[in-house]
Amino acid sequence: MQSETKQCQNCKQDFVIESEDFQFYEKMKVPAPTFCPECRLQRRLLWINFRTLYARPVEGKTLISMYAPEKDYNIVEDKKWWGDDYDLTSYGQDYDFSKPFFEQFNSLLKRVPLPHLQRGYATFENSDYCNAASYLKNCYLVFGADNSENVYYAAGVVKVKDSVDMTFADNSELCYENLMVNQCYRCLFCQDVENSNNLIMSQDCVGCNDCVGCFGLRNKKYHIFNQPYSKEEYQQKVKELNLSSFEGLEKLRETTKSLFLLQPHKFIHGRNNKDVSGDYLYNSKNIHHGFRIHHGENKGHNDYGSLLLVPIVNQRKKHDVINQCSH
Ligand SMILES: [Zn+2]
Repeated sequence: MQSETKQCQNCKQDFVIESEDFQFYEKMKVPAPTFCPECRLQRRLLWINFRTLYARPVEGKTLISMYAPEKDYNIVEDKKWWGDDYDLTSYGQDYDFSKPFFEQFNSLLKRVPLPHLQRGYATFENSDYCNAASYLKNCYLVFGADNSENVYYAAGVVKVKDSVDMTFADNSELCYENLMVNQCYRCLFCQDVENSNNLIMSQDCVGCNDCVGCFGLRNKKYHIFNQPYSKEEYQQKVKELNLSSFEGLEKLRETTKSLFLLQPHKFIHGRNNKDVSGDYLYNSKNIHHGFRIHHGENKGHNDYGSLLLVPIVNQRKKHDVINQCSH
């Protein structure tokens, strides 16, 4: 089948269904979509709340829950939900062909017990205000996380320790206010940094140590604003930047903002890809409009494993490979 341009029944914008997409829908025995990719994404995201928490009465206790108190679902404590007492099939109902599907599905959804949080509760220690996570210890407001300890205000973190204000970080320690970092130690205000130590307000750096306000460096040390210094000069210059003060930090932020704009930016974050579009793609092929995907390709079976951080092999192409947790 040829590609076709259709009008989204929701936002009325045109969108294209490629010929391979038709093949996929055929294979799955589902009709071609009538909503555009963005509207489809919005509908999928409607099902997800794991970052807003509520105090909710649950069977005589007040629990921190992902369900608002006014939502009339049958919420039970997760410890109980995961126990052996529940036979969820006992909540089953016969399907009535004379009634719409979603009406019946909604009534089933409201009757079947749901756990108050989505977490590996048995692996949680002193981390009540966290969700969509497992193996957390002493964490607070941490979401979509795994194997982390002493972390506050974070999302999408795995194996992170003693860190605050982190979004999408792996294998890192003593970090503050970072976005998209991996294997970092004592990195502050950094973005897209890998395998680096003691970096401040730097971006797109790999294998670097002791750098301030740098962009796009590989295996460098003692650099400030991408200029090399001796260790002693570096230490003196950093002292002069007065980064322990708010004024010093703000000044650095302004300087890096204009400096980074002048640097060449690679068109995509990722490597070892073939025929891909999107961002943060690694070892993938034939992925379009995909985000944060490792080892993905357009064929095979769906294997989300974790919504956040494990390899994704997605059967669907074009727009449907979206990391839903980034919202
Ligand atoms: Zn639309």
